[in-house]
Amino acid sequence: MQFQARLVTWNEIVDWCLKLRSHIVGSYHPDAIIGLSRGGLVPARLLSDYLWIKDLFSVKTEHWGITASKDGEAKITADPSLPIRGKNVLIVDDITDTGSSMKLAVDTIKKFQPASLKTSTMLHIEHSTYVPDYFATSVSAMEWTWFIFPWNIYEDVLNLTGKILHAPMHVRDLSDALKENFGLDINQRYLGELLQNFAKSGKVVSSGGMWGMPQGK
Ligand code: ADP
Repeated sequence: MQFQARLVTWNEIVDWCLKLRSHIVGSYHPDAIIGLSRGGLVPARLLSDYLWIKDLFSVKTEHWGITASKDGEAKITADPSLPIRGKNVLIVDDITDTGSSMKLAVDTIKKFQPASLKTSTMLHIEHSTYVPDYFATSVSAMEWTWFIFPWNIYEDVLNLTGKILHAPMHVRDLSDALKENFGLDINQRYLGELLQNFAKSGKVVSSGGMWGMPQGK
């Protein structure tokens, strides 16, 4: 096993965001939400609905370049005109793993002088150096998993496939190898559909019922 990965369902996303809503309601009254792009965008949009908050902004953070491999230092890009001065602000992300993206986001967003600032994530891995004010579910470091969120399936499945597709394989063998290497349960029919779509974008190639990575990838 290289590492554990699993597909997250839309129902889990909704459950986790509703759980966040119930933690936040009655304890904090944000005027504005900032979703950390890209992973926090969908949860931030759901929370803006569940908490009746129309001021929804985003700030871009980058850390994990390729599925499950960190891309050096965390980086952040915030619009200098972000209108949150004097507001109660809730930052939303999908997961705190190392915690560096969230820490950097907090330091950067504080410079915009909000009245107050709180943080929330759906998932919190317990080894994270930053603990969000609100999280729906905590995951022990021993149970570290790469969560394949419904908005990141193409990117993650392609990256995981690239880690094992050193020679052309049949979809059945690829499905078995994803299970062996990452504990990933993905049925052959769905994997086949994904591969066909990847092929249309030139991300994989197929020949004689076998799938491979394009030359030079
Ligand atoms: P933070 O821990 O503050 O979220 P990281 O730098 O660890 O910052 O992660 C940045 C982003 O990388 C996360 O918001 C998420 O989109 C993605 N990510 C990190 N760890 C995982 C993981 N275990 N599973 C899925 N996505 C992850």
